[in-house]
Amino acid sequence: MVFRFSVPREFEEAFAALDQALPTPGSRGAAEAQLYLRFPGLFRLRHMERPRMPISFEMECRPGWWPIIWRLCENLEREACREWLSEHDDQWPAFRQIKEKYGTLKAYLRGNDRMRTLAKAAELCSARTGEVCGASGILRDEHAWVETLCDRCAASKDPWRQSRW
Ligand SMILES: [Zn+2]
Repeated sequence: MVFRFSVPREFEEAFAALDQALPTPGSRGAAEAQLYLRFPGLFRLRHMERPRMPISFEMECRPGWWPIIWRLCENLEREACREWLSEHDDQWPAFRQIKEKYGTLKAYLRGNDRMRTLAKAAELCSARTGEVCGASGILRDEHAWVETLCDRCAASKDPWRQSRW
């Protein structure tokens, strides 16, 4: 079975041109380091130990979605600035966790309703973006788990399945 989502227009604009003007991550570790350097406030909770939060915060998804995460960070910053927040304010948005779940990107964060709407938009965006390579994809449950892949990755038997993140 194949699922199809449509993304509301206002969200499309917030995530437009995902591949433009974004840094190119060399590896998962490099991608995370770039995010932490550029958006330290958004990731400040990763240093705090909490009962329900892993001690080492990691992006639990594959590289095709890294541009979506980057764009989400930019959108959250813009929204926070529109609220006249400073990065040192406690109300500045902060991620609790970023992960793949049921085939789409889930970004759990501390923030207001509009910020959570942006996270939801990223989720909708991921539902049509291949998690492995970032090409246009669709949500599929053709295997043991649900995942969003482009046609080429879905047909591939490459070992990326063995290391999901
Ligand atoms: Zn692909």
